[in-house]
Amino acid sequence: MKQFGSFSDAIRHGATLRGQTRLALALNGRTCAIGAAGEALGYDAEDLLSIGPEKILKRFPYMLTTYARCPLGCNTEHRYLGAVVAHLNDSHFWARERIADWLQEREDELGFVTISVTEESEATLNLKAELSELGEMLQEVSV
Ligand SMILES: [Zn+2]
Repeated sequence: MKQFGSFSDAIRHGATLRGQTRLALALNGRTCAIGAAGEALGYDAEDLLSIGPEKILKRFPYMLTTYARCPLGCNTEHRYLGAVVAHLNDSHFWARERIADWLQEREDELGFVTISVTEESEATLNLKAELSELGEMLQEVSV
């Protein structure tokens, strides 16, 4: 499994792997924003449909726990970040890179970084040490 510092990073990387589709994680060899992140995180594109969006979004829990609004002012109820990403992809036809830029601003506002790890890497240890010096903690997500 690859590691990314944020869901927006994963979207950006996944967007370089294949073209964009809408209304499905993967369709005709293309991926949506969430599907792109899933492929970047290490899932096979062919498996994305059966894996489903929640498992991918869960790698970065803030995607399922932080409310956000459509930046274009759609009259929608508050939705989680993951749902707004899907909305921008499916309803507004935003390019995945643009979605990643918007999401990164939300991530910056959250003020924390979640790193998805399967084993403790040197980079993770270094980050933990840096954060503990700052009096902050690294939130780990096991997959
Ligand atoms: Zn909208």
